[in-house]
Amino acid sequence: MQSFMRFENKVVVITGAGSGIGAAAARRFASEGAIVVLADWDKTAAEKVASSLPEKRTLVIGVDVSDVTSVKAMFNHVVEQFGRIDVLINNAGVHAAGSVLDSGLDEWERISAIDIDGVVYCSKFALPHLLKSKGCIVNTASVSGLGGDWGAAYYCAAKGAVSNLTRAMALDHGGDGVRVNAVCPSLVKTNMTADFPEEVNQKFNERIALGRAAEPEEVAAVMAFLASEDASFVNGVNLPVDGGATASDGQPK
Ligand code: NAD
Repeated sequence: MQSFMRFENKVVVITGAGSGIGAAAARRFASEGAIVVLADWDKTAAEKVASSLPEKRTLVIGVDVSDVTSVKAMFNHVVEQFGRIDVLINNAGVHAAGSVLDSGLDEWERISAIDIDGVVYCSKFALPHLLKSKGCIVNTASVSGLGGDWGAAYYCAAKGAVSNLTRAMALDHGGDGVRVNAVCPSLVKTNMTADFPEEVNQKFNERIALGRAAEPEEVAAVMAFLASEDASFVNGVNLPVDGGATASDGQPK
């Protein structure tokens, strides 16, 4: 049972809300009183998540965050329906394994379109509304964007871009009352990581001081903190939610 209602009647747009971290965020914000917009290109999945949330306090939108027309239409729809936007959670994303040498350029186009362009497009069209509401943005970056990671070059590049965009937007818009922060998870138990080979999971767990992957709810709780008034003086931060993975200096255990 939630003990606080930090988002009573706030309109919270969550991309990638059909699964994993985004779905957990939808449940978390709804549990704290928010009106939740569940945006995902898998509309059926988002509808399924919404069906477990309070009726009339959700809106499901099918959107491809890498398609600027689709993103524009989404924000128009949200504002038509609710008249405001208070929080944008830029969470939709895809992962890709491989080095620059062995990954095709089509893969770079796919990753950068969703993981970078998607964040830029959603931020751009949400910002005019966030400036009015003195709202905020929480991006889902990754520990893979804070440092390099083996065998995921395009993903590291994309998430690094999200982290630095977070800092730059925090500087540009902080003076107008809009905070921009990011969560940087390590391994989280979601569909994205469900097919990771066991040896990869094991390597991750060795690097994570807590010795396990995160539950999506553990990331959603930090998103809610960053979006809330409890974080009113937190701006431009890329907060690791990684069980201590980035606390190490890289020396062997
Ligand atoms: P997930 O695959 O469970 O969920 C991702 C959701 O995004 C899906 O519902 C998918 O349909 C949606 N999506 C993908 N592309 C989209 C697009 N173009 N337009 C709209 N929706 C789209 O994965 P997750 O682990 O919950 O990932 C959420 C975010 O967390 C991603 O940005 C991911 O990079 C990041 N992340 C995940 C992990 C992890 O270990 N799972 C770690 C660090 C960061």
